[in-house]
Amino acid sequence: MATFGTLSDRLTQTFKNLRTKGKLTPADVDGTVREIRRALLDADVALEVVKEFTGKVRERALSDEVNKALNPAQQVVQIVNEELVAILGGQQRKLEFAKKPPTVIMLAGLQGAGKTTLAGKLAKWLKKEGHTPLLVASDLQRPNAVTQLQVVGEQAGVPVFAPEPGNGVGDPVKVAKNGVAEAERKQYDVVIVDTAGRLGIDAELMKQAANIRKAVDPDEVLFVVDALTGQDAVNTARAFQEGVDFTGVVLTKLDGDSRGGAALSVTSITGRPIIFASVGEGLDDFEPFHPDRMASRILD
Ligand code: GDP
Repeated sequence: MATFGTLSDRLTQTFKNLRTKGKLTPADVDGTVREIRRALLDADVALEVVKEFTGKVRERALSDEVNKALNPAQQVVQIVNEELVAILGGQQRKLEFAKKPPTVIMLAGLQGAGKTTLAGKLAKWLKKEGHTPLLVASDLQRPNAVTQLQVVGEQAGVPVFAPEPGNGVGDPVKVAKNGVAEAERKQYDVVIVDTAGRLGIDAELMKQAANIRKAVDPDEVLFVVDALTGQDAVNTARAFQEGVDFTGVVLTKLDGDSRGGAALSVTSITGRPIIFASVGEGLDDFEPFHPDRMASRILD
């Protein structure tokens, strides 16, 4: 996986330099923390997250935890690993299902983030897990969005509820509501509502998403964010948190040559966990997100 390549290499090099030392002086610790800080900033991790992260690493690296360790350098690597897991959310957060079906999952994010593809991936994964999902096409903004959802629905072998005369043509809120009603009627146990995205943050789009949220009262609102967008991802995440108050995050395009910034910032900035990762264009390129595995990948 190309993701985190540079960050990973830089951290590895930093630790290699550290390993040549026996006991660590405060100057060794400061030098190491400085290098970690630079590597994270170059990977586009948000400044406030970098500050908090390096602050914690420094404090722990100067404590007895390291001083008294048999292998101080190894202990510092362990601390960095633990703090990485922490900023990635700590424990794995699983998708939450409604006590009484159908579970409603709403997707939100900018156009091009990979939302529609994600809808297909999620539907396929849910089906494999024994669920009976229904996809709902509430993205009526982009030409072809409905057709695109129908295509991924077909690939996933999952039905798609799409606007047609009588079920809310032109009104995404109505389509979403009717989609959920259809699921109740036909006993689908999960409804995935795809919503419109724009290229940039847009007040009208956000209002529409908020209205859909109000209308269908979702169990999960997943903010879909392209890991390649670096620093911008933080601003987008903040805007969507304010606009739709999402419950979880899906990182997409983690297969690309992303520098990792979005992945490492979004949970700290919003307090919302990353639940899934999208790692390619195919419908199977999708996995539940594990903070500890991601941290190990970075420190590999
Ligand atoms: P939407 O506008 O948010 O619905 O985005 P789409 O689902 O249409 O995806 C935009 C583009 O990104 C498409 O060309 C997808 O094939 C591609 N894409 C989506 N997810 C991934 C991913 O995880 N990895 C890669 N490499 N490409 C992806």
